[in-house]
Amino acid sequence: MTSTTALLEIARRDLTDLNANIVGPGDPDYDATRAVHNGMIDRHPGVIVRCSNADEVARCIAFARAHGAPIAVRGGGHNGGGLGVVDDGIVIDLAGMTNVTVDPGSDSVRVGGGCTWGQVDQATAEYGRATPSGIISTTGVGGLTLGGGLGHLTRRFGLTIDSLIGADVVLADGSLVHASANEHPELFWALRGGGGNFGVVTSFEFRTHPVGAAVMAGPTFWPIEQTPEVMRFYREFLPAAPRAVNGFFALMTVPPVDLFPQELHLRKVCAVMWCVVGSEEEAAQLLAPVHQVGTPLLHGVGPVPHPALQSLFDGLYTKGLQCYWRADFVNELSDELIERHFEWGKKLPSMHSTMHLYPIDGAAQDIGSADTAFSYRDAQWAEVIFGVDPDPANADAIRDWCVGYWDATHPHSAGGAYVNFMMDEGQERVRATYRENYDRLARVKAQYDPDNVFHVNQNIHPAASA
Ligand SMILES: Cc1cc2nc3c(=O)[nH]c(=O)nc-3n(C[C@H](O)[C@H](O)[C@H](O)COP(=O)(O)OP(=O)(O)OC[C@H]3O[C@@H](n4cnc5c(N)ncnc54)[C@H](O)[C@@H]3O)c2cc1C
Repeated sequence: MTSTTALLEIARRDLTDLNANIVGPGDPDYDATRAVHNGMIDRHPGVIVRCSNADEVARCIAFARAHGAPIAVRGGGHNGGGLGVVDDGIVIDLAGMTNVTVDPGSDSVRVGGGCTWGQVDQATAEYGRATPSGIISTTGVGGLTLGGGLGHLTRRFGLTIDSLIGADVVLADGSLVHASANEHPELFWALRGGGGNFGVVTSFEFRTHPVGAAVMAGPTFWPIEQTPEVMRFYREFLPAAPRAVNGFFALMTVPPVDLFPQELHLRKVCAVMWCVVGSEEEAAQLLAPVHQVGTPLLHGVGPVPHPALQSLFDGLYTKGLQCYWRADFVNELSDELIERHFEWGKKLPSMHSTMHLYPIDGAAQDIGSADTAFSYRDAQWAEVIFGVDPDPANADAIRDWCVGYWDATHPHSAGGAYVNFMMDEGQERVRATYRENYDRLARVKAQYDPDNVFHVNQNIHPAASA
């Protein structure tokens, strides 16, 4: 492997025409460019190349392979484990590939591989439509989609991958292919949940769905002391609710922002963040039972344009915060598990720290567990325990809380975890996450990336060496 110092020099020589887009150690913008969303990640790549088309991506791959340098592919840079950056290697940064083209005729949108969801949401909202994504607009389309994609529209329209029509992919050998149901169907199957293992996606094509001028969204807060009662209600109510209703459960602290009454600021609460695709009257009717549970401190559901909903938490979870992640899929919220959540929710170590349960039912379960690489279609919830704080001095405290919470709840889980909510937890966790889909993924990996060129991800080992 070429040394890191030499790598930058050689990149500047061999990729001369990309020089304006190459950043390396010693450059004034090196630290800002290598930084990812999670402030806990501090990696020093040898070369960062901001690519703007598939040809440039292919040349970077060839360059990295020629010099034995590890490759990290950067979409939005949001990954908790910092998989968009690698020590001593080359970062292929897709931030220059942000074209978004809506085709109202076919209800689809074509999206550059480096887009963030906010860019897509703004464009599709002009037509009263949306593609299901997550809950933060600054998240990359690339990483979120390739892992599956869970968010406000999951119950109504499915996972993000369920709206994926096709993708342009630069493979490890530098060739550009189109993957869809008809072209490279095995690759298309693997891309839908298998992460960045199979190539660099330079363009995604998604279906869009009608959401109107606004969805009906907002939280209900209850005192944290009412967690057991509210969780018991939630475990019955949501799975039985029509698909128009989405609601992720949260244990959290009310942020001190104008959106919420001052008397609630910094109060620990249990909450459900609702998103109903429908009219105000329909939302009021569908959520009427919520008012009968405990003593809600706030029920703030009302019309919100979809892009505004998607960016509601952007100001809270800004780039550079210390973040520690643990996750599980959950089938059943038993009374005992609810007690564990209550116990650890009361110990939230900082204002930003939280636990979320995202539903995976409704439209997400119209597709079978083996129909895409995303295996846990039959789980009821994806749980994420998210320790977050701005101050690096509190990194140990948020990590210890996160790990303690996970240790207490994991025995009640379904086994694996959503790949996009994991940090670096090792091969066994990756296998547990893909279950019976793992071996098929390993075969696709062997076909499209036999040398495991793309290994800075939740890695699938090529079948021959698996
Ligand atoms: C504050 C916050 C909130 C979140 N909320 C949600 C949520 O509601 N729902 C949800 O599903 N997830 C959520 N996530 C998790 C998110 O889906 C993952 O962090 C995801 O990996 C981010 O994608 P990215 O492109 O921004 O990340 P990056 O760090 O850039 O990349 C992550 C991985 O994807 C690969 N990758 C990215 N783009 C491409 C591409 N074009 N081609 C090939 N490989 C690529 C990278 O190689 C890397 O392995 C959230 C994350 C954060 C930080």
